[in-house]
Amino acid sequence: MQFLDLNKFGEIGSNATFVKIGAFNLLIDSGLHPKKNGNEALPDYNAIKDESIDFIFLTHCHLDHIGSLPISARNHPEAPIITTVPNLSLAPRMLRNSINVMKRQGEELGLSEYPLYLHRDVDHVRKKLLGLAFGKSRLFNKNGDALEVILHPAGHVAGACAVEIIHQGKRIVFSGDVLFEAQRTLPGAQLPKGEIDTLFLETTRGTTQREDASNRRTEVHRLIESINQILERKGTCLIPVFALGRMQEIFKILQESMDDGTLKRAPVYSTGLGIDICNYFDKINQRTGLIDFNLKILDELGIKAPDPKLKPGRNIKNKGIYIMSSGMMVDYTPSYKVAASLLPHEDNGLCFVGYCDPDTSGGKLLEAHQQHEKNFYFEAYDYLSPIRASIERFDLSGHADREALLDYAISSKAKNIILNHGDSEARKWFFESLQEAMPEAKVLDPVPSKEYSV
Ligand SMILES: [Zn+2]
Ligand SMILES: [Zn+2]
Repeated sequence: MQFLDLNKFGEIGSNATFVKIGAFNLLIDSGLHPKKNGNEALPDYNAIKDESIDFIFLTHCHLDHIGSLPISARNHPEAPIITTVPNLSLAPRMLRNSINVMKRQGEELGLSEYPLYLHRDVDHVRKKLLGLAFGKSRLFNKNGDALEVILHPAGHVAGACAVEIIHQGKRIVFSGDVLFEAQRTLPGAQLPKGEIDTLFLETTRGTTQREDASNRRTEVHRLIESINQILERKGTCLIPVFALGRMQEIFKILQESMDDGTLKRAPVYSTGLGIDICNYFDKINQRTGLIDFNLKILDELGIKAPDPKLKPGRNIKNKGIYIMSSGMMVDYTPSYKVAASLLPHEDNGLCFVGYCDPDTSGGKLLEAHQQHEKNFYFEAYDYLSPIRASIERFDLSGHADREALLDYAISSKAKNIILNHGDSEARKWFFESLQEAMPEAKVLDPVPSKEYSV
């Protein structure tokens, strides 16, 4: 088997792996780099431009995995796109949103190549999507060779899967993004059991050591306590969230906590793509039962749209709980806008519940807070704000703890382990820990676009 990691910059970046196995050429994920712009954000598709592709796989609908799928599908129009049943509806929705975001960014940043694809490319993706049920094996034949494909639940976000490929008795597993613990809306990952030959492993949390006492349940409890404190001092609470997955989980947590009386009742505000995703989750729940979410949750919370006329520095009039994307407070997004109103007022509070890249505004604000800096600069608004609102972090990550992934790799007795989806320090921890725990295994931290044989 040969493979090329097409993610140009390493890191979490634009995930895409090209794999040659027997008669088959496969592409696993087609991401877009969340921190790069324009063509730079694409995987290195040039490296495979002369190759034919038999199947494109989509592990889940976060942009670092799906964001350039219309381009890989346009380059290889014959290839079916294999994914899970929930992604049949989620994938086109996320891609259409991505077109709108690129159109806006194209104007703001003066990037003539934006949008990188059009709605007709998404229409093509929609036609090529092939949904497989979890755990059901499917056999594909080509030129007398055969490939067996099984998708496994990966937790992480609705529709997420790990991909298992069996070829001539060899098992190859692509973990995708994984969370073993259950979320309120989703059961945890069930990765393939037994011995594996080659394991492609995500490494997101390689540098994060969880404090012993904190697990998901205690973190939720701590979050509810913090929201209560902010509401008691008559402040407004902002929770920046990813539109796909985390927003719906937070809605469910709020609704259940208000229901059982642990959280004070307060108006809840939200807007944008995440609200639309709630409708999709409700439909997927009705059709497949794979997501534990329904629209009654929104009704019970009585969600309202925020005042569109917010001004940086001027405190929000409509107090309550704001559940806004983006999760990393990317410039100009609703969470960024609300934060610029809340931050200079000490009655308010910001609660971060997911990963923030250090280069994003969310990451920079967390760093400024940790360094006890007095001010934070909202660059997009040219507004220097005093940091007076409370700022807290809660570990509700969608990614497995590093120790859990390490245990999984050990239990798989994999002969080859290929690291991906992590910054260099995170990969280093996995590289060293795996080498120590599995001295027989070949562990690879691949150089982008270089061909490897395993
Ligand atoms: Zn993801
Ligand atoms: Zn990812």
